[in-house]
Formats: sequence, C-alpha cells, structure tokens
Amino acid sequence: PRLFQQRYNFVVSYIDKYKPKKVADLGCSECSLLRRLKFCDCIEELVGLDIDKSLLMEKTESLKPLIIDYLEPLKTRLTVCLYHGSVTEKDPALLDFDLITCIELIEHLIEDDLGKLRDTLFGFMTPHTVIISTPNSEFNVLLPNLTGFRHYDHKFEWTKKEFQDWATKVATCYNYSVDFTGVGDPPAHAKDVGFCSQIGIFTRNYTESEDSLKQKKAFKSVYKTVLNVVY
Ligand code: SAM
Repeated sequence: PRLFQQRYNFVVSYIDKYKPKKVADLGCSECSLLRRLKFCDCIEELVGLDIDKSLLMEKTESLKPLIIDYLEPLKTRLTVCLYHGSVTEKDPALLDFDLITCIELIEHLIEDDLGKLRDTLFGFMTPHTVIISTPNSEFNVLLPNLTGFRHYDHKFEWTKKEFQDWATKVATCYNYSVDFTGVGDPPAHAKDVGFCSQIGIFTRNYTESEDSLKQKKAFKSVYKTVLNVVY
C-alpha cells in the first residue's frame, strides 16, 4: 500500500484493537481517513476538523448515509460531524474523546501554532489517546529528486530525535505516556534511517474528573459545523 494508506491502516488497526467509541481527526483535509473509519463498528461518534473549508466540503456527500444504510442500519448508531476551525482554538465539541488523530498535520504549523495545538490538544481536549504522525526527515535521503522538504507547505521536518524530544516533553508536561513507532519501512541497507512516517502514540495517565469536564464544556463554541449526520 501507498504511504498514506499505511498511515490510515495503522489507525484502523489501532481502533480494531482498542475499540474507541468517540474518534476525531484533526486536519482531516478531504476526509479520506474518516471515510474509512465509518466502517469501524465500535465507533459511535466520528468528528473531523480542518481549517480549509473547501477541502473539507469537497467530498462530504460520501460521508452522508446512503439509502442502503437505512435499509441495513448499523449495529451502533453513528454520528458524523465536520467542523471548520483551527486546532489552535478550544471548542467544547472536541471534549471527552477516546482517540484523536493528527495525521501529517503538525509539520504544517508555524511554531506559535504548534504551541497552541499542544496546549489545546493535551491541556483542553485531553482525549484518552492521541496519535500523531509526521515525516521522519532522516528518511529523505532515500527519496529520489527531493530537495528541501517533502511538501511546499511544511514548516519543518523532524529527525527521530527531534520528534521524540518534543513528544516526550509534551507527554511529561501534560501527564501522558508516549510510545514511538512508524510506517514505511526503510530498505535493508538503510535500516538506521527508520520509518518514512514517524508516529507517536500518547496515552493519558489520569482519569478526567466530571468537574473539570463540566467547566470546559461551558467554553464558547468557535468551530463552524459544516456537516452533522446520524446513521
Ligand atoms: N490528515 C490528512 C491525511 O492524512 O490524509 C491530510 C493532512 S494535510 C497534509 C494537512 C491538513 O491540515 C490540511 O488539510 C490543512 O488544511 C490542515 N490544517 C493546517 N493547519 C490547520 C489548523 N491550524 N487547524 C486545522 N487544520 C489545519
């Protein structure tokens, strides 16, 4: 499978194993991952957030239920919501999630926004699990004809150590544990460079109190709903 599919496969395997009920994808773009997650039986609420409204709206039809979905209802009720907004902003719509994914998102953020994402994601949204994927810059020597970053909009690409240092600091600061893995195996002669996409899996070390959740639920909504459908 192509690299982006390997990243989605990774998320799907994680979901098959741990059965989260509420899942959100930040920087969901044209919702390719969400379209796959629609078929995960355990999920009851699926949310996508992106700052680019036109990308977000591009394929919304494919997230709406089809006649067949009414004829053969899912075992569990599924709500799908898409929001137009920024990961730098706090909105109660993203509270109380079991899993939040950021697939190839962080490298698109300038330093100031990355700081805000960190605070919003780990200090406000506080999901049980966070999966973050980002390019491993050490792999770039193996990519033909590449000069500079893999994509013109990337603000940085990190080595394994740079990503792991950042992630470990975040985890310590917000009381999460973090494990590292990746997708896109290097060839046998270059094992040391590591995976093409590096992945951090963060798990919350504490149980969120009802009180803290209630306080955060009182925050004003800032995201704009662009799709809200129930299966
Ligand atoms: N996650 C998708 C995937 O794996 O197929 C695509 C990721 S794409 C490379 C990065 C996405 O992040 C873009 O759709 C972009 O609009 C979005 N993005 C960039 N800055 C953002 C922000 N501050 N808040 C929300 N989304 C943002």
